[in-house]
Amino acid sequence: MCWVVAPAAAQYRHDAAPTALDCETMPCTEVLPGATRFEPVEGAPFVQGFDATGAAVGWVVLSNTVVDVKAYSGKPLATVIGLTPDGVIAGARVIHHSEPVLLVGIPERKLHEFVAQYPGHRAIDTIVVGESSDPDDVSLDVISGATVTALAQNKTILDASRALGVAVGVIDASVVSPGHFINEPTAWSWARMIEEGVFGRLTVTQAQMEVPNPRGNFVDLWFTIADAPQVGRALLGDNDYAFEMGLLEPGQHLVVILGNGSSSYKGSAFVRGGIFDRVHMEQGFNDVVFRDLDYHNLGRLAAPDAPRFREGGVFITRGGPLDPGHPFELVFLGSRYNGQGGFTRDFHEFHAEHVMPTSVYVLDRPELSIWQQAWLNHRYGALALGLYLLFVVSVFIGRSWTTADPKRIKRLHTISMLIGVFGVGFAMKAQPSVTQLLTLVDSLLHEWRWELFASEPLIFLLWIFTFIASLIWGRGLFCGWVCPYGTMTDLLRLVAIKLHIPEFEFPERIHEKARFLRYFILLALIPIFLWDSVLGEKLAEIEPFKSTFLVPFWTRQWYLAGWWILLFVWSIFTFRPFCRYICPLGAGLAIFNSFRFSGPRRRNFCESCTICTRNCEPKAIRPDGTIDPRECLSCMDCEASYRNEQQCPPLIGIERLLTKQATAKLSTHDEERLLQLRDDAKPR
Ligand code: SF4
Ligand code: SF4
Repeated sequence: MCWVVAPAAAQYRHDAAPTALDCETMPCTEVLPGATRFEPVEGAPFVQGFDATGAAVGWVVLSNTVVDVKAYSGKPLATVIGLTPDGVIAGARVIHHSEPVLLVGIPERKLHEFVAQYPGHRAIDTIVVGESSDPDDVSLDVISGATVTALAQNKTILDASRALGVAVGVIDASVVSPGHFINEPTAWSWARMIEEGVFGRLTVTQAQMEVPNPRGNFVDLWFTIADAPQVGRALLGDNDYAFEMGLLEPGQHLVVILGNGSSSYKGSAFVRGGIFDRVHMEQGFNDVVFRDLDYHNLGRLAAPDAPRFREGGVFITRGGPLDPGHPFELVFLGSRYNGQGGFTRDFHEFHAEHVMPTSVYVLDRPELSIWQQAWLNHRYGALALGLYLLFVVSVFIGRSWTTADPKRIKRLHTISMLIGVFGVGFAMKAQPSVTQLLTLVDSLLHEWRWELFASEPLIFLLWIFTFIASLIWGRGLFCGWVCPYGTMTDLLRLVAIKLHIPEFEFPERIHEKARFLRYFILLALIPIFLWDSVLGEKLAEIEPFKSTFLVPFWTRQWYLAGWWILLFVWSIFTFRPFCRYICPLGAGLAIFNSFRFSGPRRRNFCESCTICTRNCEPKAIRPDGTIDPRECLSCMDCEASYRNEQQCPPLIGIERLLTKQATAKLSTHDEERLLQLRDDAKPR
């Protein structure tokens, strides 16, 4: 027998994701207080802990040996968890993660503090991250700025400790997530069962088994749980279904396996009284083996439209717990071909996962996925953000009215910027970042996981908004009106102007070159991020966003704090210097926005006039009077001037001549001038 000696408490940090529990290097004693030694449990990846007197005090498991919960990084949060014989979580410790936001930005201790809330709670307790409407639930605070990580961590600890509890018999599988079969008295047709997704399917080809004739299937297995009458009756017929159901004891179920193919899933060497060694089921740590005593042959299926199968069987799950509310796997073990017409005792192992459809089995309290829980947690924030974005869009939809008065559009702009900074930025902490753009590129090139993006509801909404609004009105709708950091620096300069703080601008020739810097930064970040996402995240700290809205700049490394202060001071003297020269996110949006359907209005006369050009802070108006959509921040000052009869020269001229015409006949020169002015005033 192999005894594992527990180490004294220490700091544990594995550089590579561990794949097996090892109490010599992992904090087993920390998560199972009182245990002084650990003994492996035969055939299981977890260990049992004993105190100094030799009494069993619980079990320890490494989460990623039993559950596959992907966190924000797409990788698991490897967590060592201890469970007492009462089914109580004794301790939990994260020993490895790849969460970018915790490697760069939010201190890692926040995750450890979050995990430290679990000891003392029962594994079967309903523990939710964020709010819950049920007073019996245990609510944990989210990790601000790392919501997805917190949700994934919660699921990791609960799923792993429950699976451990069920495996060692201290938790009843049906209590973990109670549910019930839907009872429809009428048997379904075969076609209906296919449509509803009643069957899992495990197909093993001849080629996979390396037999001489590689064509066709070795086995083609259809499997399901047949407790629900609409399924059981359709497969077994009324009488056999009633008979089999009468044999079930609490917690047991009927499993039906139908087989086609050149080989039998029951095995040619199957002996009566023995165990079916070619098939079994797996769920978490649990194996469900099938014995001869648990089996009845199933010949022709009762559903009239059912196809013929080579063989079939009904099994009672006496060989281990099976929870119909969660995914389970059918495992087929196929003997290796020995190359001489026979088979060896070496096995190929094949798995197929299945989950029963909700038309057959429902959980009494449906489990929310990480992204669903995130939306539930942020529902009010999402609503508030949606209303705010609707307000911004309305300003642009109704721009003939909103820009008709220069003061009106300025006021609306200022209101929007204030909400952007204090609402979206400081309150919601929903500042979009270039790292999301980089993650998008990475996902498109590697593995697409839309849940990853949907798990950050506010950021997700902002990106949808930015994508659609930018196509129509340009990126200025986001950058100019909503972006928390951009609007903060805009407001900063407005205050500086009120305080008569002088302006500093680069000379034109330097500005023209410097504005390309942001594109270089973006183009450099993309390959670096794809090569090493953590390094990419670190370099993306060129964005001062985290130091502004997530982690106070004064708590960060000196160079990040210094960078933040430098940008802040620069923004007092210069209009949005970060946006105009450095921001890689703005650069990405600008590239996307080389075209827009509806920019600020322009007249033929704009080429000869510099009124708008002089007032355009980001210098987006070209010498020919056209607007560069990549530079424009959609402040709409120029459109207000465009409509302003006291400011726009052709409108002033037309108005003057029309007033004159009302009292006297215009001279030929005046008429020609009026024609010219009307031409000048035409929209481009
Ligand atoms: S350029 Fe960058 S910081 Fe500026 S408004 Fe746009 S996204 Fe925000
Ligand atoms: S003034 Fe400049 S930034 Fe503002 S809308 Fe016109 S072109 Fe765009």
